[in-house]
Amino acid sequence: MNQYDLVVVGSGPAGRRAAIQAAKLGKKVLVVEQGKRVGGVSVHTGTIPSKTLRETALNLSGWRERGFYGRAYRVKQEISADDLRRRLLITLDHEVEVLEHQFARNRVQHLRGKASFIDAQTLQIVKDDGEIIRVSGTSILLAVGTKPFRPDYIPFDGKTVLDSDELLEIEDLPRSLVVIGAGVIGIEYATIFSALDTHVTVIDPKTTMLDFIDKEIVEDFIYQLRDRNMKLHLGQKAEKVERTPDGKCSITLDSGRTILCEMVLFAAGRMGATDTLNLPAAGLEADSRGRLSVNPETFQTSVPNIYAAGDVVGFPSLASTSMEQGRIAARVAVGAIAKEPPKFFPYGIYAVPEISTCGLTEEEVKERGIPYECGIARFRETSRGHIMGLDSGLLKLIFSLKTRRLLGVHIVGEGATELVHIGQAVLNLKGTVEYFVENTFNYPTLAEAYKIAGLDAGNRMGELVAKG
Ligand SMILES: Cc1cc2nc3c(=O)[nH]c(=O)nc-3n(C[C@H](O)[C@H](O)[C@H](O)COP(=O)(O)OP(=O)(O)OC[C@H]3O[C@@H](n4cnc5c(N)ncnc54)[C@H](O)[C@@H]3O)c2cc1C
Repeated sequence: MNQYDLVVVGSGPAGRRAAIQAAKLGKKVLVVEQGKRVGGVSVHTGTIPSKTLRETALNLSGWRERGFYGRAYRVKQEISADDLRRRLLITLDHEVEVLEHQFARNRVQHLRGKASFIDAQTLQIVKDDGEIIRVSGTSILLAVGTKPFRPDYIPFDGKTVLDSDELLEIEDLPRSLVVIGAGVIGIEYATIFSALDTHVTVIDPKTTMLDFIDKEIVEDFIYQLRDRNMKLHLGQKAEKVERTPDGKCSITLDSGRTILCEMVLFAAGRMGATDTLNLPAAGLEADSRGRLSVNPETFQTSVPNIYAAGDVVGFPSLASTSMEQGRIAARVAVGAIAKEPPKFFPYGIYAVPEISTCGLTEEEVKERGIPYECGIARFRETSRGHIMGLDSGLLKLIFSLKTRRLLGVHIVGEGATELVHIGQAVLNLKGTVEYFVENTFNYPTLAEAYKIAGLDAGNRMGELVAKG
């Protein structure tokens, strides 16, 4: 009775997409989720909460309108943590409802409990009430995701020194915040709080940040952060974090400097959530960061009937890519054809301002020795930018001089995460600079920046000379 074609552990983007895919192919599928509600980190503590928080912060603070009405402009004068949470709860309820409906419609069974291996085909599930059941799967997919890395030297207390999960539960907005870790999560939250007028300081031992993004875009981004008075202590390590008697926090850097603040967010890394899976019983082993290695084409682990997908397999650790990995893993697991996804996928960093990118950076193009040319457009050159009062925003296109094909698109500014998909389509369809030069774009739009950047590059590259 408890035998399934596919048992999926975890109901985040990888698990849910895999389960629905296998069910659509007529298979008997069970999803096991230890959380109170389905959806995973993506719905409950990661992607959706942080993006909802961002949207609420930008709306209530009137951030997008300040270009016109000045830096003092606010839609709501006193913004509370409650204001931020209210919208979050509504959004999360909606996400869970949609997901539960998808499971019901596709006859995916789901069970609340914590799964661990008995052997490579059998899992033990400990339910909330203590009942233990066993389930077997011809194939098993581990889509268990990650949890925040919490080193011993950080005195987490859930109130003033927090990880990114706990940040969603705060009762008051801090007047000052130190973010330890200048990765995507740290930078997103740092800039969201800065938009809410919190004094934000970011600390990271590396001298650079967001190294996988085109350098020119990161430079523009950093300029904007400094311009609004965010402090970036790059190349410095937070050696000690202490609470002071008056309830504040004191952070001592390796340079000897001390920073005082009301709240600390520690966002320096995440660990694969594999520690309670009893992996050795299935013949598996995780790396030092709790991650599993898989065949990148099939998502099969070293044990043939066990698959892993999503953040637990490491890079790129995005909800978007996790879904695709889950879909491919499920198809392979049930013996269906699984086509490799297109080469280039977009990255979105929902900071304030947004960054989004797809394809090769200028640094990568140089490294590969490809002769290239760039085209740049600033949003303030577009009529839509004037209407919106934008004084920042940059779109950069990189083209091969030899083939004239688009090699990379890199954007910082309003709407970057949506705009990038035009560039992504041209990239994956192997389009050239002529696409941007010859096509008509809606006017007035920010997408018109593609036309401007295309013309900029086209002018530098010269006309395409007809052959023969
Ligand atoms: C703050 C933050 C912001 C983010 N923003 C973005 C973004 O803007 N865009 C984007 O694409 N990505 C974003 N991400 C990344 C995204 O959330 C992850 O890539 C995605 O959630 C990974 O999906 P997953 O399926 O691997 O697992 P997860 O979503 O991590 O879900 C795993 C699930 O497995 C369950 N589980 C674990 N162990 C067991 C067990 N033993 N038994 C039963 N259940 C178990 C967990 O309870 C969890 O619900 C963000 C992440 C964070 C933390």
